[in-house]
Amino acid sequence: MAKVTFFSGQQLPLEMHKVRIIQKLNLLPIEQRRQAMAGAGYNTFLLQNADVFLDMLTDSGVNAMSDQQQAAMMIADDAYAGSATYTRLYDKLVELFGMTYFLPTHQGRAAEHILGKSLVKPGTYVPMNYHFTTSKAHVTEMGGEVLELITEAGLAVTSDELFKGNFDVAALRALIEDKGADAISYVRIEAGTNLIGGQPLSLANFRETTALCREYGILTVLDASLLADNLHFIKNREEQCRDMSIKQITAEIADLFDIIYFSARKLGFGRGGGICIRDEAIYKQMRALIPMYEGFLTYGGMSVREMEAITVGLDETMDEDMINQGPLFIEHMVNELDSRGIPVITPAGGLGAHVDAMRFLPHVPQQQYPAGALASALYIASGVRCMERGTLSEQRDPDGTEPMANMELVRLALPRRVFTLSQVNYAIDRISWLHQNRDLIGGLRFVEEPEILRFFYGRLEPIGDWVDQLVDAFRRDLGDSL
Ligand SMILES: *Cc1c(COP(=O)(O)O)cnc(C)c1O
Repeated sequence: MAKVTFFSGQQLPLEMHKVRIIQKLNLLPIEQRRQAMAGAGYNTFLLQNADVFLDMLTDSGVNAMSDQQQAAMMIADDAYAGSATYTRLYDKLVELFGMTYFLPTHQGRAAEHILGKSLVKPGTYVPMNYHFTTSKAHVTEMGGEVLELITEAGLAVTSDELFKGNFDVAALRALIEDKGADAISYVRIEAGTNLIGGQPLSLANFRETTALCREYGILTVLDASLLADNLHFIKNREEQCRDMSIKQITAEIADLFDIIYFSARKLGFGRGGGICIRDEAIYKQMRALIPMYEGFLTYGGMSVREMEAITVGLDETMDEDMINQGPLFIEHMVNELDSRGIPVITPAGGLGAHVDAMRFLPHVPQQQYPAGALASALYIASGVRCMERGTLSEQRDPDGTEPMANMELVRLALPRRVFTLSQVNYAIDRISWLHQNRDLIGGLRFVEEPEILRFFYGRLEPIGDWVDQLVDAFRRDLGDSL
């Protein structure tokens, strides 16, 4: 991807790849979209992919592979033990991260499971810049407590801070001095902080945070699942790193850590995961768990074909033109929406664009799930599937009261290398139309509310007849066909 100045004066992202395999998409007429949304209980997780035009639900396991990755999959060495495929993946990881040991896992959360079981001591703390759902679950499962030490800017919806994922180093120092280094199992740093909008840390902050840990002999762990986006932002936003290659930045970051783990459903354009380890004793301790939970040491639950694809995908991650496609499209989307007065998280991060449903639909109370309602409305108006990240995604307290989320967000994920700019522009256009007609959008209520993970399976219905009004307005403005 490149950012090119057009003769018109516009600066737009331009694809530095061509499409060689296509998948046909369906854009159902609005009446059928309305029916599909009703059939899915106004929950985008329950839509059939065949009814979805642009799937912006997630960036996990749905990134596009390159011709080189597909070619590599053909030479995968299908051996249970000692496969040459493993050696190629291992060598690539040593080349990029410089750690002696590697354990493969079937995905990112499986690496977190192994990490939790080996490293988290009950009653200790695991400070992090911010939690990810599965990272937190595996720490608490082992009796540890997650502490989020994100800088104040990280939680502001709009900000000028370019590195909203930065660790609050002063808060970490205060914590260590208060509780003692022994009370901390390890410090986890999440690159491209997922749940606050794919926001990056600066190389300077990586350095400062890990130096403090070294000073106290505390183990440092990098969650590199969203590292690719973070690398792009360091190169483009951090003055001192402008002349460094992506590979140099990667090596500098990796040098700071004791352990690096990742979900290859995001990093490396494949599906899988793994843990890179510097210390032999820690490696041996974790190694014992791999055959028990994942698979033999040379595949860890992954298919060898995926492992070959990841090896090539990691190499492509070192190419700025390959990893900037997501961030540049997201920046385009965020800037376009922002310029039309649509409330979005700024500055743009990796992973996707995040619309602030609380400000988009100020007339819909949080009890009526504004982000869920907006996600449903967007599908009906466009066939675009996105994800609610707000109160619907929260869980009720044991006494049945419903906690309100800090933010009501609609996340439009942009899987890497998948969409074209005209598709992104279509999504922007339909969100703009919804914004013009936002007064028509009402709330939702549950008709079937599961006790756990209700956002995955729950079914809802619109309160009142707002969906009919929205469909009528759409027909008036944009016709019937699409
Ligand atoms: C997705 C993700 C994980 C979990 O990885 P899976 O492969 O989905 O299990 C962990 N950390 C971060 C930051 C992620 O984005």
